Amino acid sequence: MDDCIFCKIVEGKIPATKIYEDDKVISFLDIMPANKGHCLIVPKNHSPTLVEMHEEDLTATVKAVKKIARALSLSFGNASFNMVMNNGKEAGQIVNHAHIHLIPRFQKDRLRLKWSHLKYEGEEMNDYAGRIKKFIE
Ligand code: AMP
Ligand code: ZN
Repeated sequence: MDDCIFCKIVEGKIPATKIYEDDKVISFLDIMPANKGHCLIVPKNHSPTLVEMHEEDLTATVKAVKKIARALSLSFGNASFNMVMNNGKEAGQIVNHAHIHLIPRFQKDRLRLKWSHLKYEGEEMNDYAGRIKKFIE
């Protein structure tokens, strides 16, 4: 896709610090990492978010995530990592080409990915579940 920075990386038109590539997926270091070693796992086919991704790209991407997560643990002697995917503007997605972040975690790192907890009132929890279930195919 024209004008997509990750498509340009996939096509080799702009440089990236690549750590993995196969026929469906590419992975490279995030240029502005949350922790050093922060990787992005990117399907080569352009989809804006998870929802538009083809099943086979999804499978290949998740398999690559597992492979790289294992490599992160072995490289840094630490099994902890966060797997993050921002889908849509309100969720913080900046690059509109679906991708998964893998962020290695270290003892006493300063990274915080916490949210405050809300409360459901009365029947609200069942209402929310019902609204979601209606659209599951
Ligand atoms: P997101 O908010 O999920 O869309 O995150 C996009 C991520 O892509 C950010 O963490 C950026 O630092 C990263 N990023 C943007 N451009 C590049 C690039 N040319 N090479 C590596 N990482 C990039
Ligand atoms: Zn793209």
